[in-house]
Amino acid sequence: MAATPGMFGGTCGGDAPECVVVIGGGVIGLASALRLRLAGMDCLVIDPMRDGEGASWGNAGHIAIEQVSPLASWSTVRSLPRRWFGRGGPVDVPRPWAVSPWLWRFLHACAPARHASGQTALRGLLGDAVPAWRQLLQEIGQPGLLREQGHWVVWEQADAERRGRAAWLGGDIGEARVDHMDADTLAAVQARLSVPLRAGLCFAGSAQVLDTARLMRALRQALLDAGGRWLRAEVAGLRDVGGRAQVLLDGSRTLDPDRLVIAAGPGSRRLMADLGEDAPLIEERGYHLQWRDHDWPDLPPVVFEDRSVILTRFDGGLRLAGFVEFVPPGLAPDVRKWQRLRAHAVALGLPVRGEPDAWCGARPTLPDYLPAIGRSRAAANVCYAFGHQHLGLTLAATTADRVLALLADPGEPADVSPFGLQRFAG
Ligand SMILES: Cc1cc2nc3c(=O)[nH]c(=O)nc-3n(C[C@H](O)[C@H](O)[C@H](O)COP(=O)(O)OP(=O)(O)OC[C@H]3O[C@@H](n4cnc5c(N)ncnc54)[C@H](O)[C@@H]3O)c2cc1C
Repeated sequence: MAATPGMFGGTCGGDAPECVVVIGGGVIGLASALRLRLAGMDCLVIDPMRDGEGASWGNAGHIAIEQVSPLASWSTVRSLPRRWFGRGGPVDVPRPWAVSPWLWRFLHACAPARHASGQTALRGLLGDAVPAWRQLLQEIGQPGLLREQGHWVVWEQADAERRGRAAWLGGDIGEARVDHMDADTLAAVQARLSVPLRAGLCFAGSAQVLDTARLMRALRQALLDAGGRWLRAEVAGLRDVGGRAQVLLDGSRTLDPDRLVIAAGPGSRRLMADLGEDAPLIEERGYHLQWRDHDWPDLPPVVFEDRSVILTRFDGGLRLAGFVEFVPPGLAPDVRKWQRLRAHAVALGLPVRGEPDAWCGARPTLPDYLPAIGRSRAAANVCYAFGHQHLGLTLAATTADRVLALLADPGEPADVSPFGLQRFAG
């Protein structure tokens, strides 16, 4: 790799024969970089982000292996009227004209045949998700960051219960298992709430991370301890030079990496466009409130399905998360969503005290709700891993294994073929 001498320290950017640059230090880029480094590759992550800012820090912490059915489906479309923000639901499209090309492609991706093949592909990825996390965290000596205790779904209203039971008991939930919630378990949830619950389901096989912030810090520290590098900078763009990508850091600095992994979440769209490739990502924003001071017991994550919110007890506090807001880049957060989350917390009677931290961040989402994992058709040294929508935390470790396979194997690993960006060509 040609680079400014001494820019990174260590081997990356020095005399080493090959260096992999990973653009993006969210959970996808970081897990991938760590997996590559543990396999012996020189690795440099480039990211300007401060701790706590991206979706990888603000998510609900749920390893959601049950979400096998891609959200691009006619059943999602049919549910939209009752899930609309204006009617008390989680879905909002505040600038419809600005996101209409993406919505059009989403509708196309809902076609039953495309949904079915997407489901097969997603089932394969999700099937490896927990073992891959277990393995990665074992290797860095942090197995306790993964809590394999399933998750729970509860209902307040008969309608929601009927719909929820039909969907979860009759649907494909991959390697997860589900059972009716017994009276003692329901009472354990009910005990800390003021709203009456009707019933619930208990999922096994799913998991949570102990704390998203601790996970991100542990992955980064493990990368650095293993000899990987981290450069706090923003990639201004990519340049195609004879079928290979160069990295432009700012006006004066250019990197010419042997291998490049684009894992920049929502920012990947612009970088792929520099190479002439279409990555139709949208920012699908979510919100959370987190209280440090609370009396919520040590229970698995609880989904309050009537309200479309998930409550997760982390090491650092109790987090209530929700909303799917399709927005163009740069739109200011909508304070009404935090107000709505607060109203849910009050209505549920959550045992919390003090002012919560309020957070908003974007899921990187492609129209068919499958991630993009593959090799660039335009630049011979580029692979990509982004677009993990609601499942980026869940899929990070298994994606990292596939990124390693892409870099280590000059052929096309069979299990990434459904995730290539060529599916959007034309
Ligand atoms: C409210 C909410 C709850 C969620 N809950 C869950 C959950 O329970 N389970 C689950 O599996 N998933 C969940 N998700 C989804 C999950 O958080 C995302 O899919 C995941 O974080 C995406 O990770 P990422 O690394 O691709 O992107 P990001 O976390 O966005 O990271 C991308 C990184 O790339 C960097 N970057 C961008 N452009 C550039 C550039 N030009 N140069 C250098 N760096 C750049 C950014 O600074 C950023 O750090 C949730 C999301 C939200 C919003």
